[in-house]
Amino acid sequence: MRLGDALKWIRGKVEGMNERESAAARDRLVQAVAEARGARATILIRDFDELCASIMDVLKAAGMTSEQAANMLRDSIRAVCPTCGWLSTGKELMGLWLMGAMGFERMGPAAGPGAVSRLARGVCPSGRCLSRLITVVWEPSLIASAEEDREPPPA
Ligand SMILES: [Zn+2]
Repeated sequence: MRLGDALKWIRGKVEGMNERESAAARDRLVQAVAEARGARATILIRDFDELCASIMDVLKAAGMTSEQAANMLRDSIRAVCPTCGWLSTGKELMGLWLMGAMGFERMGPAAGPGAVSRLARGVCPSGRCLSRLITVVWEPSLIASAEEDREPPPA
């Protein structure tokens, strides 16, 4: 085991979850998405982008365009910090994540200043919380009703 890996493993243990447990929880959630079930999973925050990428792959494999998959991801996912209760919609999460990826570290409209860089570093966006875990909730039923709302009215 390389030193970097050893440090990661130790950090994961301190946080109450190692990378393998996080990956297993992530895989179970992705499986639920594939089966169109609701599910929740507590994972390391730094695994969140990989979770989103896997969900996008599953939705596209089921025949969605990239745009449809991104919309479903944004509308169906919620997250809550298991330590402090920080709650986020998919839209907020995606926004924070995108801004982190683009380097807009000072912007964090929903969760306050610093939220973007905290999330990008794998820490709870809430200013007073040190959690590195996030509980992700997938609720595809929200989408079904949203899709119905978008149906054109009968002629
Ligand atoms: Zn928190």
